[in-house]
Amino acid sequence: MIIAIDGPSGAGKSTLGRMLARKLGLLYLDTGAMYRAVAYAALRSDASTTDAEAMAKIAREAHIDLVGDPDSLQVLLDGRDISHEIRNEQIGHAASMISAIPEVRRELVRRQREMGAHGGVVLDGRDIGTVVFPDADIKFFLTATPEQRAERRFDEERRREADLNYEEVLHDINARDRRDASRADSPLAIADDAIVLDSTELSIEDVFERILEVVREREARK
Ligand code: C5P
Repeated sequence: MIIAIDGPSGAGKSTLGRMLARKLGLLYLDTGAMYRAVAYAALRSDASTTDAEAMAKIAREAHIDLVGDPDSLQVLLDGRDISHEIRNEQIGHAASMISAIPEVRRELVRRQREMGAHGGVVLDGRDIGTVVFPDADIKFFLTATPEQRAERRFDEERRREADLNYEEVLHDINARDRRDASRADSPLAIADDAIVLDSTELSIEDVFERILEVVREREARK
């Protein structure tokens, strides 16, 4: 079984993806972490994130591993654990810039297809149900208002970045949404056969219940 979870940033994809993978005993693939790992490598290099050729080379040469179970997934870049270092707004911003470069996407999509080829996997991202696995068994598109998503992200990241400010997070979410939805290559879009879940008024637990219902319905139909 391949389950795709797409949606804008801060919609709860990774929390719900992990919960689902744990519940069903599936592998969890955080594709955003792969874009973040390339962004991390890019920021440590001398090249500009707008240099498409240099970014493509960095993506091709980066050895990225996602290891461990869903709750303690580690992101390794060339064997080094960068799981914590990639969770900040600077890397998120750079990831969103480099993810618009077609050669970078091509390389990471190829690897994601390889990693998910045997099935038994939950993938979270922006283009899983539309591009990476258009034949996924179940596709969810999670969303919530920008204000709600900014609030969640603010609560999450405030623990790590004490001087974070809500207005800035909201501004960043809006900018990232615009970039992700307007890029020419694989823009954030709802697959025709995706189930859209808006969590603005719902708790994570409520959304998770709904997701499980859908999975059980699909399994019963098989
Ligand atoms: O999900 P996360 O915020 O970690 O992703 C970082 C950035 O990587 C996103 O803002 C998006 O631009 C990009 N991304 C993407 N396609 C994916 C996953 C993430 O373009 N499948």
